[in-house]
Amino acid sequence: MNADLARLLRDVPDFPKPGILFKDITPLLRDPAGFRASVERLSALLPAGLDALVGVEARGFIFGAAMAAHLGVGFVPARKKAKLPAAVDRVTYALEYGEDCLEMHRESLRAGDRVVVVDDVIATGGTAQAAVDLARMQGATVVGAAFVIELAFLNGRGRLPADVPVHTLLTF
Ligand code: AMP
Repeated sequence: MNADLARLLRDVPDFPKPGILFKDITPLLRDPAGFRASVERLSALLPAGLDALVGVEARGFIFGAAMAAHLGVGFVPARKKAKLPAAVDRVTYALEYGEDCLEMHRESLRAGDRVVVVDDVIATGGTAQAAVDLARMQGATVVGAAFVIELAFLNGRGRLPADVPVHTLLTF
């Protein structure tokens, strides 16, 4: 059903480093019907009664913000270190080499808010897990995680909490 979208991805070998096959979404974004369809189809998989989508910098902003506007819910950016101007909550997570962190403005979410985490790709799941942790730190209930692309061989969904359903359009 989503083969039309898969055709709009570009595989870039050895980016950002040797051995990584990078899934480039920019051709999909450039295609009016493809971009709209990706936003509408991924939104349609989400549960009703959401308060906000939490988008992960940077490509999660593109899909997450468009989906939030489409669904009529709020959008909360989860940003890389030291990008947000006011007080933040922070979650640090391990990378293959070293560590990284995600930050969200304090009190972006209220206790009991129903939220979904959005990013373009789930690979190992570490980034998405950090975004889930951040939303929970603020008292939100994470009722799902949504990705345009899942790299299933890395089993990122296995790293997310069992009670967070994972929604994806394209699996490789
Ligand atoms: P991970 O934390 O391993 O799940 O990595 C997810 C983050 O890295 C997402 O923000 C993705 O945008 C990016 N990412 C990881 N692997 C790829 C890939 N093969 N192609 C494009 N983006 C990727």
